[in-house]
Amino acid sequence: MKTTGKTPRRPPPKKPSNNQKDPVGVYCRARPLGEEDEECCIEVISNTTIQLHAPDGLKANRNGEFKETQYSFKKVFGIKTTQMELFEDVAKPLVEDLIHCKNGLLFTYGVTGSGKTYTMTGSPGQGGLLPRSLDMIFNSISPYQAKRYVFKPDDKNGMEVQNQVDALLDRQKRESQTSVPKTPTTRRFDPEFADMISPEEACKASGVDEDSSYSVFVSYIEIYNNYIYDLLEETPFDPIKPKPPQSKILREDQNHNMYVAGCTEVEVKSTEEAFEVFWRGQKKRRIANTQLNRESSRSHSVFIIKLAQAPLDADGDNVLQDKSQVNVSQLCLVDLAGSERTSRTRAEGSRLREAGNINQSLMTLRTCIEVLRENQMCGTNKMVPYRDSKVTHLFKNYFDGEGKVRMVVCVNPKADDYEETLLVMRFAEMTQEVEVARPVDRPICGFAAGRRQRNQAFKEELTRRLEDRGGPVDGDSPTVLNQLLQSFPPLPPCEISGPNDNVTLPRLIEALEKRHKVRQMMVEEYNKTEQDSNLLSKENFIQEQRGRLGEKDKMIQNQKNEIDRLEKKSKMLEYKIDILQKTTNIYEEDKRSLQQELESREQRLQREMSEKRRMESRMQGIVTDAKLKWEKECERRVNAKQLEMQNKLWVKDEKLKQLKAIVTEGKTENQQPKRPSREKDKVPAKRSASPSPVPTGPPVRPLHRRSHSAGGERWVDHKPTTNVDLDTVLQPNIPNAIKVNAPNEKALSKCDKYVLTHQEVASDGEIQTKLIKGEVFKTRGGGQAVQFTDIETLKQENPLAASRKRRSSETGPDGEPMEGNWTDVETRCSVALEMRAGSNLGPGYQHHGYPKRRKP
Ligand code: ADP
Ligand code: MG
Repeated sequence: MKTTGKTPRRPPPKKPSNNQKDPVGVYCRARPLGEEDEECCIEVISNTTIQLHAPDGLKANRNGEFKETQYSFKKVFGIKTTQMELFEDVAKPLVEDLIHCKNGLLFTYGVTGSGKTYTMTGSPGQGGLLPRSLDMIFNSISPYQAKRYVFKPDDKNGMEVQNQVDALLDRQKRESQTSVPKTPTTRRFDPEFADMISPEEACKASGVDEDSSYSVFVSYIEIYNNYIYDLLEETPFDPIKPKPPQSKILREDQNHNMYVAGCTEVEVKSTEEAFEVFWRGQKKRRIANTQLNRESSRSHSVFIIKLAQAPLDADGDNVLQDKSQVNVSQLCLVDLAGSERTSRTRAEGSRLREAGNINQSLMTLRTCIEVLRENQMCGTNKMVPYRDSKVTHLFKNYFDGEGKVRMVVCVNPKADDYEETLLVMRFAEMTQEVEVARPVDRPICGFAAGRRQRNQAFKEELTRRLEDRGGPVDGDSPTVLNQLLQSFPPLPPCEISGPNDNVTLPRLIEALEKRHKVRQMMVEEYNKTEQDSNLLSKENFIQEQRGRLGEKDKMIQNQKNEIDRLEKKSKMLEYKIDILQKTTNIYEEDKRSLQQELESREQRLQREMSEKRRMESRMQGIVTDAKLKWEKECERRVNAKQLEMQNKLWVKDEKLKQLKAIVTEGKTENQQPKRPSREKDKVPAKRSASPSPVPTGPPVRPLHRRSHSAGGERWVDHKPTTNVDLDTVLQPNIPNAIKVNAPNEKALSKCDKYVLTHQEVASDGEIQTKLIKGEVFKTRGGGQAVQFTDIETLKQENPLAASRKRRSSETGPDGEPMEGNWTDVETRCSVALEMRAGSNLGPGYQHHGYPKRRKP
């Protein structure tokens, strides 16, 4: 909210329509210049506005532009403002609130040297807000203070009420401890409270509840480098090896208020005592700063005044022994660290970190204020980073709970501070846009008002009456003595007129006897009245006891209520436990079933795995089987092919030989034909693994042909058992044939024609049937020889390989050229097969046969 030049200043921020909230009260205080001839950069324009103008040097830097900014606050205090005036406006309402059970927070903000400490603490004769607040508190409550130790902090930011006996014992303990005077030598250097405020400045809160009892507790902490130190902690001082101070932590109490855990809370009974405690802490702070080479301007100091109050009991005699009736309110007086940036400090080495941290905590304060303002103005719900620093964390409840927050912004008018002051002003102006919930009035206890006064009046009356009765007994009062003497009968003259005077003495005796009688009567009367007074005092006593009894009854009632509440709570908790138990059971059941499922799944998986393994091994077996089979098959085929080729070779050989024989026969007729050396033509052992048939020589012409006349040709129909029954029309059917599975000599001798039905699978998967035909001759050796003359090929489509339409037999199953040459051979080649009589045809025949083929 910056205005320039002569523009009219803006009014201070409007109060929100919600009357349950109040903005943070921001006050501005300008201190006087250190030296009169110093350049000044501020001007108080009105009691709510301050104007800043850039110093000469800065103006030159900015092209001589003359720049002024105005800032408005709840109130601006000029240099002439007295400490008292400031207190009246700023702190007094907070003290009033404190006494009426409401919390308050007051802090001073500004650069180092701007007068924060002066404003908060002051100097002798110029007491600041702190001693004045203390003074006002005690002026207001001192007639109603509880005896020491009646209230006792419970170390959880709460307050308990001790019974009278315990309080008395604590008091006696304290007296025995403090009987030794505490270091009286240093005392003299500390300012005393009497030095700070003059008695005529004393002020007092209004509307103090007289039917309550009060106690004041103070704490004093320092936050340095984001560590909290207790300045009132009593640590045994070791001058040789001083122990470094231990830092404290923040905790949240059951009402979600933050407090310093384990922080010393000193009960104080007077302003003097309170101020002395404050000064003790101040001294400790100074010593620590000197010892640890710290700058005090870098730390935040927090003085907490706690006011405990509890109603008097029904008699107005004692504090009600009921913790729930105790109200604790607190006023925090904070002297913040200097707000200047790091660059202004001698930031070097370890100090850099310190300076950074301090700025960090003030930065956090600024951020928190910004976020709060944004949330409140824009209706957002951003997280306020209170926890980022100890200062903001400690005061979190003031901003998001309730209480009154006030800030005094201190300004040093000197031109050197201009830029820092500008930042301070901006922050301060923003701060007053933040609103804090207004503290609500506490409910008052149910007892009738005016208990204290009635009790006092009663006590006075009692003493008066006792005095009235006790008066005659001691007999000191002359009026009473006179009264007494007057009540006796007067004495007759006691002068004896002569020896015969018989009247005077007896008259005297009579009078004296009368007096004696009166005296006795009086003694009796006195005894009687004394009895009466005894009775009265007893009655009083009984009355008193009744009162106590009533009080005790009330206490019992309270406790009963508490027990009821606790019972209800325990029932509730039991119920909750029950529910939780049930939930747990359900979850456990779930867990069990899930586990079972898991197990069963695992088992299934295991089974499947083993099944898979089995399958794998089986497949592997099958694969190796197939591989083996195919290897064998291949070998067999290779062998067969070899045999075939050998046979062909052999057949060609034979043909050649026969040709040769024919040729030579023509040349050398009648000449005994020479048998070609078998050794020469013999196919090497490679032709067959089995022993070759014993060579008997090839069939040679002229051969003795059988006569065809008788019954035409007779055939040996040789069908190996391995052949497939094809059942087709192509099936050769030879009438009057001797059917054999294996050729034998006997059949051959009876026939003159031979046919071998040979089957094989052609390259296209068809079954090829070859009819190998020949003529049977008688050999010279007496055996039979077959001369092959013709090969007929019948083709039959393999039903299983119907899709394979290829009829060509050029390539075999392996892609190799097949016996396409058989077609060549078909062109009338002749093959001779000689069978020696009596030879074992098994292996010998196999030598010429074709490999058995499986059904494809
Ligand atoms: P801060 O705590 O902000 O660093 P101090 O309170 O220590 O500043 O003030 C620095 C000096 O200025 C002190 O000597 C103090 O007495 C003096 N001073 C500050 N404010 C005022 C004032 N309003 N009137 C007179 N002297 C002041
Ligand atoms: Mg200071």
